[in-house]
Amino acid sequence: MTTELPTMFPWQSEVLERALKLKQSNHLPHAVMLEAASDYQMDGLARYLSMLLLCDQPENLSLCGRCEACRMMSAGTYADFSLVTLEVDEKSKKLNKNIKIDQIRNLIHELYLTHKYARLKIAVIFPAEAMNKSSANALLKTLEEPAADVLLLLITRNPGRIPITLRSRCQSWTIDPADERASLQWLADQGIDAAIAAQYLQYAGGDPLLAMHLQQQNYAQRVEKFKTSLAAFLRGGQSATELCKNLLSDEVAIPRRLIEMTLKAYCYKACGMDSAAQKISAVERDKARGLLDLQRRAQQQLQVEENNLDFQLQLEDVLISLKQILTRRLS
Ligand SMILES: [Zn+2]
Repeated sequence: MTTELPTMFPWQSEVLERALKLKQSNHLPHAVMLEAASDYQMDGLARYLSMLLLCDQPENLSLCGRCEACRMMSAGTYADFSLVTLEVDEKSKKLNKNIKIDQIRNLIHELYLTHKYARLKIAVIFPAEAMNKSSANALLKTLEEPAADVLLLLITRNPGRIPITLRSRCQSWTIDPADERASLQWLADQGIDAAIAAQYLQYAGGDPLLAMHLQQQNYAQRVEKFKTSLAAFLRGGQSATELCKNLLSDEVAIPRRLIEMTLKAYCYKACGMDSAAQKISAVERDKARGLLDLQRRAQQQLQVEENNLDFQLQLEDVLISLKQILTRRLS
């Protein structure tokens, strides 16, 4: 079975170059905490970086594709590579929220087994912040007594959510987010029309991979649909429950993103940031304060996703608060 070689993205080249140089000069650390620029394609990043470090003849950061390591990694048969990530729960069929202690124990066991090949052994964990306390503690012991010729790679978007004891034992690498020009260029290279690319990059807060993902989901159409329903709700033509039901026909990431975007837009508007500097009235200032509070609150509330009912209740609560703020008058 042969799978395609993973892809690298232009904005990752700095970190990839650094990794390769460290390997070539025999200075690779035992453990690295890599801060990724996007939640997307972490799997691809993990594989590409690992393959680059294993490849016999990488050229200009490209994989040779022919050596033993490249072939076996592509086929998923390279025994000295382990990847631990969130698993799908057998019962609920949903993605687990944590990386379980058993996964980490298995990984540690693998790390101390004899190398199968005369190369580096690589173990990757992502998203590393998904390790719970016991998983992180188990891993900590390994970092205190690292096995020889092993690279442990923790990939995360939120290093701050990883225990400092763990972080301090890793060398820290960061992938800087792509700038706007590079992002638009990359989206254009993927065959996305310039105007559409610009719109999606804005939806994605500047993350080209997320922009691509949203474009594949036809997010723009959902935004338009949501705007119409929200307007009806704010006019009183639709209840919060009805609006939520429509929203929840999508996976929760979509309504979460829609709400985040809407609150941000209203905040900008209330603060006068959407137009040339204008004097803000007392009503608008009050609105802005309420919206900023709601934005913070919504971020926390909409993280619940154990079951859909919880999420729906939180979503309704946020929407009702939004309506109250927007229709509030100074007494
Ligand atoms: Zn190769």
